[in-house]
Amino acid sequence: MVQSNIIPNWLIKRAYLTPNRPAIFFHNYTMTFQQLFDEAKTVAEKLHHVGVQIGDRIGVLLNNHPETIVLLHGLQLLGCETVLLNIRLQDEELLYQLNDSEAIFLISNEKLIEQHNGLKNQWDHPIISIEQLRQEKEKSFPLTEQFTMDDLCTIMYTSGTTGHPKGVMQTYGNHWWSAIGSVINLGLHEGDAWLCAVPLFHISGYSILIRSVLYGIPVILFEKFDEEAINETLISGKATIISVVTAMAQRMLQQLGNRSYHPNFRCMLLGGGGVPLSLLETCKEKEIPVFQTYGMTETASQIATLSPEDSLSKLGSAGKPLFFSQLQIVKEGVQAKPTEIGEIYVKGPNVTRGYWKREDANRESFTVDGWLKTGDMGYMDEEGYLYIVDRRTDLIISGGENIYPAEIEQIILSHPHVKEAAVVGVFDAQWGQIPMAFYVVKEGKNVDEGELIRLCREHLAKYKVPKRWIQLNELPKNASNKVLKRLLRKWVENE
Ligand code: ATP
Ligand code: MG
Repeated sequence: MVQSNIIPNWLIKRAYLTPNRPAIFFHNYTMTFQQLFDEAKTVAEKLHHVGVQIGDRIGVLLNNHPETIVLLHGLQLLGCETVLLNIRLQDEELLYQLNDSEAIFLISNEKLIEQHNGLKNQWDHPIISIEQLRQEKEKSFPLTEQFTMDDLCTIMYTSGTTGHPKGVMQTYGNHWWSAIGSVINLGLHEGDAWLCAVPLFHISGYSILIRSVLYGIPVILFEKFDEEAINETLISGKATIISVVTAMAQRMLQQLGNRSYHPNFRCMLLGGGGVPLSLLETCKEKEIPVFQTYGMTETASQIATLSPEDSLSKLGSAGKPLFFSQLQIVKEGVQAKPTEIGEIYVKGPNVTRGYWKREDANRESFTVDGWLKTGDMGYMDEEGYLYIVDRRTDLIISGGENIYPAEIEQIILSHPHVKEAAVVGVFDAQWGQIPMAFYVVKEGKNVDEGELIRLCREHLAKYKVPKRWIQLNELPKNASNKVLKRLLRKWVENE
């Protein structure tokens, strides 16, 4: 029988193919793929010694560190399902995810266990620190030498921007196809190295680990976002690709000033949230190879990305669906025409088979023929390039007209002294809903409401100009740093 859904364990394979190639750079420290495999095997044997069994579901609460990478591979060698937890979550949120996922061990480190000390009393299963694990003895076990594509590799919770976070089931196949789809688009160059300053517990970071092992390229790992050190790495030419979100790119550009990056640096993959056009334009001026990408936890990273040759001519677009992925825009139940805005539906071998223990959400989110309704609104231009407009839940309907807050936010953000902006719809007796703006001003700057109203009037139809303006010191955000508009709306309702 042909078993087309079985592949060799990718780390074992990689350590066999190119044992001496670097797998991880971290400060001045380097680890080869052979060392990565050896260490992953050792940590897996230690885990087994403390009671972790093959196939167990294990929570991981760790920051970016080579030991985290080793552990994540160790868990794959043990055939465990890994639940990746965001270290910025509150104890209560962590507890929810641990209980919901039915994880039976939590692996963390002493510092994080101390920070989340509420977990110790409230969670019934063992919490193991990395430090403790180092001291443990080892117990051998049969290595997971093959992966079945449909087997669950990870559970990752969505950021919880639109509601309560949902556990996304990600299979080995989802990660595999995601990595292969990415490389078919971006290509693989001699000397490639992927800089990872995004969290390993998010799909943006975890997917870099998988790509590293599949492509045989190193991860240049950062424990936290440090624009100065990252810029030095990109100026030196050591990293060729980096994954960033908008806020990171903005800070990097500001710190970069008039200097330029090394010609080896070939891709700044920018996604995870809305991207201001002004940022893309600055990148274009500075000849920074920025590629907007669209993806989510459910698609195991990118589902659409602008390809290199279009990065200048299709500014603002998130490109076309990757090779194995499909995408369509649905308006009122039928496929939208080019340039018509509708909900983005996606399909592909990188797309999750569903939310963990959430039959309600699965029924709501998947069509009978397997499309995932993303909850994002967008359109395709005549040539099939995707433009993300906004989240469906953030749409404002005012006097029968659709208003997409992101369009208004773009205008507010084009004011040089505005740092952040969020527009939400609030109840209005006459219009049903009206747009209301919240904004944060850059340090030491002053912006008066009148200026922003004038700016909006210059660029937007009258009904889109926010009727109320509130300046805040910061916008409410979740642990993934995304603005929580539902809290802003609630705040207005309660006012
Ligand atoms: P939740 O699903 O719990 O509300 P979330 O959607 O923020 O949380 P993630 O999976 O981390 O959780 O984020 C994916 C979302 O980020 C996408 O569905 C989309 O709304 C947004 N996003 C990603 N890339 C882009 C992009 N290039 N432009 C605009 N939005 C983007
Ligand atoms: Mg989502």
